[in-house]
Amino acid sequence: MGDWACPRCRADSVLAVLRRPHAWTNTSGNPVRGRSDVLLCARCDADDPLTGPIVTYFAVHGSARPDNVGQLARLLLRWADRARPPAPDEKALRAEAEAEAWRRGEL
Ligand SMILES: [Zn+2]
Repeated sequence: MGDWACPRCRADSVLAVLRRPHAWTNTSGNPVRGRSDVLLCARCDADDPLTGPIVTYFAVHGSARPDNVGQLARLLLRWADRARPPAPDEKALRAEAEAEAWRRGEL
């Protein structure tokens, strides 16, 4: 289907990718910026109330069609609005904070 393989089921069944920047504050109070991809998988996300309708849309129509693309757009926007990237890894945050303190000569 695309160039994406699902990291969960490893199948080539990714229908859409939500790429968004995200930012959080690390333990030393500095903003950390990153980027994360939220993948929509036809297999893994079919039962999710948020993504299920999108999976169904592609199952029924095959791809986006001009006569009902508005319906798809609404589903995608709703997903984009509520989908959250995985929370930042606590351990990675701590390691980052320690590296920061080390650079400033506090360790
Ligand atoms: Zn999957």
